[in-house]
Amino acid sequence: MSGTEFVKLEGVGVTYGEGASKTQALCPTDLSIAQGDFVALVGPSGCGKSTILKLVSELLKPSEGNIFFSGRELGAKPVRVGMAFQSASLLHWMTVRDNVMLPLKIVPPFKAEFRAKRDGEFKDRVDALLEQVGLIDFADKSPWQLSGGMMQRANLCRALVHDPDLLLLDEPFGALDQFTREELWQTMQDLWMNRKSTVLLVTHDLREAAYLANRICVMSARPGRIIDDRQVTFARPRAIDVTFEPPFTQMVQDLRQLIVHAPAGPKADAA
Ligand code: ADP
Ligand code: MG
Repeated sequence: MSGTEFVKLEGVGVTYGEGASKTQALCPTDLSIAQGDFVALVGPSGCGKSTILKLVSELLKPSEGNIFFSGRELGAKPVRVGMAFQSASLLHWMTVRDNVMLPLKIVPPFKAEFRAKRDGEFKDRVDALLEQVGLIDFADKSPWQLSGGMMQRANLCRALVHDPDLLLLDEPFGALDQFTREELWQTMQDLWMNRKSTVLLVTHDLREAAYLANRICVMSARPGRIIDDRQVTFARPRAIDVTFEPPFTQMVQDLRQLIVHAPAGPKADAA
């Protein structure tokens, strides 16, 4: 792998619940992500994709194995994470600008300077992002005045405004119609090319993974494990038209075959 090893999972497994209701969600898994890379995790519903995101964002402790961030055990040092999910969950009583600014109010070191900078430097920072995703004219609107695609644009801005070390995306485009989704893929690609954030994208949409990511890790059905790990080398910026060309459609077809024909992972020990 090229670049610095930024996030590393070593033999990380997750079993939810106890006794008879025990569910092995993730087989012991190794995964390393290089700084500045854009990695997609793909696999069928329930294979443990969101579980991996919860582990990396410290919302969930692994049942076994260890997670490292820049070579240090997770938890040793605060990791600044940005997250976007399928539901944009913008606060309806705040303007779009204030929604996007919210992490600067909450996350150190920004929060200490929030009062002093909210109308100056922080506002400029938010507006620059809104400009980049084509939402600047909606900065003073309420979220309910936006379309679904616009809400997700604002959601991406909110996930990036505090310059996260790691951007975690859990099916953020899943609820959008195909045209809007493709527009958002382009926006996401532009944001990544400008900022070079480290991104971990979870999706069951193979076209989305192949369009956006530099690297795709394919997971089998539950209990999840990584069954394939490949680089995606299409030149950037990628136009949507690329997704209809033979090398791209062949890659999507290969990924689909891998998932469809993957044997289920080893069963958890009987309780
Ligand atoms: P994905 O995001 O790939 O759809 P998840 O990571 O959400 O899958 O879940 C993996 C498996 O673990 C699923 O079978 C799910 O039902 C189960 N699971 C997830 N969260 C919990 C939980 N809190 N308690 C019990 N089982 C869970
Ligand atoms: Mg999920």
